[in-house]
Amino acid sequence: MTASISTIMASLAKCSQPGSGVTRLPFTDQHRQANAMITALMEKAGLHVSLDDAGTLVGRRQGPEGAPTLLMGSHQDSVRNGGRFDGAMGIILPILALTDLKDIELPFAVEVLAFPDEEGVRFPTTLIGSRAIAGSFDMDVLSYHDADGISLRQAMQSFGLKPDNIPQLDRRNSRILGFVEVHIEQGPILEDMNMPVGIVTSIAGVDRFTISITGVANHAGTIPMEKRKDALVAASEMVLAVNRLATESNGGKATVGQLGVFPNAVNVIPGQVDMTLDIRFDNDASRDQLGEDITTAMVAIAAEHGTEIVITKTYSQAVTPCDAVFREKLAEASRQVQPETIELSSGAFHDASAMADLCSVGMLFVRCREGISHHPDEMVEEEDMARAVEVLKRFLLDLDPDN
Ligand SMILES: [Zn+2]
Repeated sequence: MTASISTIMASLAKCSQPGSGVTRLPFTDQHRQANAMITALMEKAGLHVSLDDAGTLVGRRQGPEGAPTLLMGSHQDSVRNGGRFDGAMGIILPILALTDLKDIELPFAVEVLAFPDEEGVRFPTTLIGSRAIAGSFDMDVLSYHDADGISLRQAMQSFGLKPDNIPQLDRRNSRILGFVEVHIEQGPILEDMNMPVGIVTSIAGVDRFTISITGVANHAGTIPMEKRKDALVAASEMVLAVNRLATESNGGKATVGQLGVFPNAVNVIPGQVDMTLDIRFDNDASRDQLGEDITTAMVAIAAEHGTEIVITKTYSQAVTPCDAVFREKLAEASRQVQPETIELSSGAFHDASAMADLCSVGMLFVRCREGISHHPDEMVEEEDMARAVEVLKRFLLDLDPDN
């Protein structure tokens, strides 16, 4: 190979808005530049390149007549001031694996997909490309606007796409072998275990809630402590309870990430607090249980402080299990670059979450430095990326479409 993988990742990172780290949003000039670079790499791998009407760049390697297609890939976009590996690495590594296997016949077709958007930074929606392919794209989101008042439909059209054709991208009636995504771990587990790669068992399910606590706003100087109905004091105890119950849950994660205090003034007892709650677990029953434990505790705390509480579930997504055959094949393939197989679950969403509506999914995590992601300091070592390419090659060579 002429250029190192790190060099490729560094050049791709230059397709970014100015500033620290990488800022590459969907349907922008930076997206166009990244697609041009990825296209060149795909062509070097012998792939036939096209851009679909949802903005997914598709690099296809034909298989034998009538053979099914294995889909691989990840998202090209980043968060604002993000890193160069989240998403992009999952596009580049499969292309490099296929470049090395260019002259070897495989019993199936392969497509590398560079999805336009997974981070959901520009528009209040996400997984545009993967949902289009999975047949779960909601056409109503085309009317959503970005911060500049540009609708998703307009942004896609000025990118040269025909969003009205998105329903035709649905692949549910075609022979798909599955979807395999390589991604940085975005956590510290592989680094702590000193392992370059890990096999993902499942993508955690998530429940989200909004919680509104109403007390009585009053003068901070005149109301005795024992007579107060302070919504923020109640909320504070709830935040601690969320943290304690998740810690005791053996694998669950729960976070209060947003807090709105009203009237939010120096001399007024808080009369209302609105907050969010995000609960994740790698199995649905445990997540339900943790959600119940937390909401029960919240109701009790609200009562102790004489406050009212309203808890509303705003979002729920079940666990996405990774395919057993993919897990086994990826585990076997990983044994040539490290002595043991490490299995772990993903606490973050990925394009694989949406692709699971279409086909079996598998994921390979690559270790990242200190578990840092969504930050300019995001870092994956050259050797680890090279190892992941080796794992993908072995996986592709061993995959049997009839099994
Ligand atoms: Zn990502």
